Amino acid sequence: MKVFNSLTRKPEELKPLEGNVIRMYTCGPTVYNFAHIGNFRAYAFEDVLRRVIQFCGMGVKQVMNLTDVDDKTIRNANQQGKALDNYTRTYKDAFFADLKALNIQSAEVYPAATDHIPEMIALVEKLMEKGVAYKSDDGSVYFNVRKFPGYGALAHIDFDNQRTGARCASDEYDKENVGDFALWKAWEESDGPVGWDSPWGRGRPGWHIECSAMAMKYLGESFDLHTGGIDNLFPHHENEIAQAEAATGAKFVNTWMHCAHLKVNGEKMSKSAGNFFTLRDLIEKGYTGREIRYVLVNAHYRTGLNFAFSALEDARKSLERIDRAVDALIERIDPSEEAPAFVAKALDDFTSAVQDDLNIPKAFAALFDLVRETNASGTKSQAVLDAFRRMDEVLGVIFFGKKEKEDIPEEIANLLKLRAEARAAKNWAESDRLRDEIATAGWLVKDSKEGQTCTKK
Ligand code: AMP
Ligand code: ZN
Repeated sequence: MKVFNSLTRKPEELKPLEGNVIRMYTCGPTVYNFAHIGNFRAYAFEDVLRRVIQFCGMGVKQVMNLTDVDDKTIRNANQQGKALDNYTRTYKDAFFADLKALNIQSAEVYPAATDHIPEMIALVEKLMEKGVAYKSDDGSVYFNVRKFPGYGALAHIDFDNQRTGARCASDEYDKENVGDFALWKAWEESDGPVGWDSPWGRGRPGWHIECSAMAMKYLGESFDLHTGGIDNLFPHHENEIAQAEAATGAKFVNTWMHCAHLKVNGEKMSKSAGNFFTLRDLIEKGYTGREIRYVLVNAHYRTGLNFAFSALEDARKSLERIDRAVDALIERIDPSEEAPAFVAKALDDFTSAVQDDLNIPKAFAALFDLVRETNASGTKSQAVLDAFRRMDEVLGVIFFGKKEKEDIPEEIANLLKLRAEARAAKNWAESDRLRDEIATAGWLVKDSKEGQTCTKK
């Protein structure tokens, strides 16, 4: 599979450095609030990426950190008078629930920054020993960007035209303010109870060192792939490279991938701009996780995606079309029927699309070719159903009868049970009444030879 490497700015073959497993680090959420669907564009892109890696026959070890200590988490926890871990717990739990709603596969490891302070301190100590870091008057420790010759390689910074000597205490800044960045921040009044003892006094890690330390702990000094949204490229990822490579002398990461932003009216969706929707906002408006996932993944990851409710409406219609074709196929499957010629073609088109820098819109086109041919031919072939399943290993949006049953809430399951009993007793009036009750709760019951199937309306 080929992917676009932000470091070399070229498409390149993605191959594991060792064995058959891609080691991948994805910058996770800052758990100071509910993640918005712009954040989930990044996580959905990374989910599709890990699914394509597996689709191509490789294994994956994905590490996604939880930033549970930084400028923003401390500010909010202290404003609300809560202990930091108590404050971030709510948003960690919400994050995992949201991942599930979007059918995003679990990463192999979810390290939290606050569980890795000793590793971060050890890394800062190493950078001090190497002479690339220094302690400032206030007790903070900074990385001296002038001491690391490779600085700016990822963001392609024209270093000679930049201001030098400036120091940046905050975690986020732009390219105009490139300068020494904080590795360890000395405790301040506003930090309140948050702080850890270190060789430089009480304080806390900078955001960038968190990721370098956790990435190397779980994936080694050199690994295959590092991803995030495009806003992470500078300064966060540039600084991660500087910290890791200055400490180890080894190449930190082979391939860097970044997704473009989800926008609203042409502007980046963000907390600070106030133009955001959380997943919960959209679910409350009646959209499903599956419809939201469809919209997020069905755009090329390197092109900007403008969020619109009309896209969610279109997603609903497209998913209904897929569901109808797949449901009808499941109903008429005949194991003795041979594979029609169009299956191989659709799968080939699908495979080339996903292997070409994750061209998911093209992959969906191959899926819809399969839908069309399935309907037109009335095929009963198991191979066609297998092809839908194979494509869904990457897309993660198709409901196959069985999967749906698992998602049915308990109260609906109870009503279905009562309805099955009513039907067995030939009590059709009760059966119809229960069907209506289930419909009012948002579920559609269909009867077939195998019994009832129930789908979300
Ligand atoms: P944060 O919690 O701000 O550190 O962001 C978590 C992830 O979401 C990072 O990979 C960001 O690059 C990404 N991200 C933030 N806003 C957007 C957006 N509007 N579109 C796509 N990705 C985003
Ligand atoms: Zn990070």
